[in-house]
Amino acid sequence: MSDPLRMKAAVLHEFGTPLRVEEVLLDPPHAGEVLVRVAAAGVCHSDLRLAEGGLGHERKPIVLGHEGAGVVEAVGEGVRDLAVGDHVGFSINPACGTCRFCREGKPTLCERAGANSGHGNLMDGTTRLRLGDGRPLKHFLFVSCFAEHCVVPAASALRVPGALPLWQAALIGCAVVTGVGAVRNVARVRLGDTVCVIGCGGVGLQVVAAARLSGAGQIIAVDRSREKLERALAAGATETVDASTDDAVRAVLKLSGGGVDHAIEVVGIAATIRQAWDVLRPGGSAVVVGLAPVGLEVPIPAIEFLSDKSLKGCFYGSGNPAADIPELAALAAAGRFSVAESVSHFTGLDGINDAFERMNQGIGARTIVVIDASLAGVPPSPQRTTAPASPPS
Ligand SMILES: [Zn+2]
Ligand SMILES: [Zn+2]
Repeated sequence: MSDPLRMKAAVLHEFGTPLRVEEVLLDPPHAGEVLVRVAAAGVCHSDLRLAEGGLGHERKPIVLGHEGAGVVEAVGEGVRDLAVGDHVGFSINPACGTCRFCREGKPTLCERAGANSGHGNLMDGTTRLRLGDGRPLKHFLFVSCFAEHCVVPAASALRVPGALPLWQAALIGCAVVTGVGAVRNVARVRLGDTVCVIGCGGVGLQVVAAARLSGAGQIIAVDRSREKLERALAAGATETVDASTDDAVRAVLKLSGGGVDHAIEVVGIAATIRQAWDVLRPGGSAVVVGLAPVGLEVPIPAIEFLSDKSLKGCFYGSGNPAADIPELAALAAAGRFSVAESVSHFTGLDGINDAFERMNQGIGARTIVVIDASLAGVPPSPQRTTAPASPPS
């Protein structure tokens, strides 16, 4: 086997401590895997949840990052549908195709992918990452793209159009496929429906955009940040509710004339999941997209099931990411919808801890980590941490 590649990565050594940018080792791709040079990565709440210790305590030390895009640099044995030079967006769902759920057409529930992901391994149950001193290092959701390179299952690298800047392609594989999927596959929003979106960060803004594309008649955006509500209006919200000053449930019931058809929760805490339930009209459904920490419980007034209200789960858009990610990337490349509005900050690998801090404080929306500025397609100033005045196109 050839020598491992030495590269910079942001490593989480202990839960609740900052990531450290350091040199790590990356072994070459095994059969069915590819090596990708990472161009850009989005910082998602799931990265923060794991770093805080909210997703169990097995996966450490680990290279986080799961929403990203780059260029294929090498392919392992047996990989036929990807070639060196291809632009790819990452998928956290390299579905096996043979388990019970894959056979039922529910690849996001793939048992083999779920088990390996939970242990921080690739699909063969091993890792390609090691610390500089040789100790093993976990992968996050098969991707680990807070690094200059990553080795991923070929099914986690989906070709995207070269015309789509890679900093935008980075968003497709988590925020976009999740937000659009919640609207299209779970809520199944129809023309004229009323929708309430609770939480307008990176994913919530994609929910708003997808609700608009679906023809929702009313899209009420709820958040505690004025800035995020402004972004929601730009993405297609028809009304906003500032939950830092208003009683969100009362305000949404008033704006919607007694409740909405669909409430989509994109925060992952008890209070907002309960709000999603409380803003429904009889017969309405709430979809929980927000990633709650392990152990969180939410009380629901059970008598209200009599009014035909329902509460639904959603993982990674609950669709078929292998088909959905290339399709959404093609739509974005064609200008049918824009993902740029959800990005508030650009930074480098050493700026991820600050991005986590902004998330904790509810400041800004998505942060994009620019790892290779020449590939990512943003101006060569990766330390810039202010909102882009006009996103590069
Ligand atoms: Zn994510
Ligand atoms: Zn499967």
